[in-house]
Amino acid sequence: MKKVLLAGNWKMHKTLSEVKAYFEKFLKDLETIDLSAKEIMIAPPFTALAYSRKLTEGSPIKLGAQNACWEEKGAFTGEVSPLMLKELGVEYVIVGHSERRHIFGETNELVGKRAEGVFRFGLTPILCVGETLEERQQNKTLEVIKSQLEAGLNGIKEVGGRDLVIAYEPVWAIGTGITATPEQAEEVHGFIRDFLSGLYGKEKAETIRILYGGSVTPENIESLIKQPNIDGVLVGGASLDPDKFLKICAVA
Ligand code: PEP
Repeated sequence: MKKVLLAGNWKMHKTLSEVKAYFEKFLKDLETIDLSAKEIMIAPPFTALAYSRKLTEGSPIKLGAQNACWEEKGAFTGEVSPLMLKELGVEYVIVGHSERRHIFGETNELVGKRAEGVFRFGLTPILCVGETLEERQQNKTLEVIKSQLEAGLNGIKEVGGRDLVIAYEPVWAIGTGITATPEQAEEVHGFIRDFLSGLYGKEKAETIRILYGGSVTPENIESLIKQPNIDGVLVGGASLDPDKFLKICAVA
């Protein structure tokens, strides 16, 4: 059964004492939710991964990283390898987040290298794609998504029985309080599903989770998750607050 994936991206937030306080609250409240059809992932900053693993050991929470290099080791100052992440218990890695693309200049090709590396080391990439407001206004949304998917999945020729996740995150909706309407999101998710069918076959494409991200809140989660091609959410701001993220997890 394809479980809904509820993923929190903490970005560059939380010191270790804040991490402790968060999990103390979140883990306790999580016991009140039926998780049989849900998977929960949290991606803390690199500095908090080991501690987060320790605090969540034995709980249903999966650990994610916010980026990764494609090599095992070497002269890549400032980078972290998939192998190092795996050793910490990380299962998912976000690649190509719009902040990586737009603030740090990561290209479609670089993102593709990261996705391939993460996949090769046995971790699950969460490949983020999304158009800017200008691109949407120029009716280029699907064209942009297509090139991001083509380059982003270029190194992953076959998925086999492995897991792969795509996150549609319109840049204009990230951290802005503006959410794509369920119809806008569903249109792009349907397009992504068709693209995946073309690449990996229809049957496999149905198993790949496509998340929506961009100002998801406890108030708008219900209408988004009802869409046939929305298989979960990637949550930034609202995942920083254990009460809000718990509500999202409960409603989804
Ligand atoms: C994100 O960082 O992936 C994100 C979707 O952020 P927010 O939920 O704050 O818009």
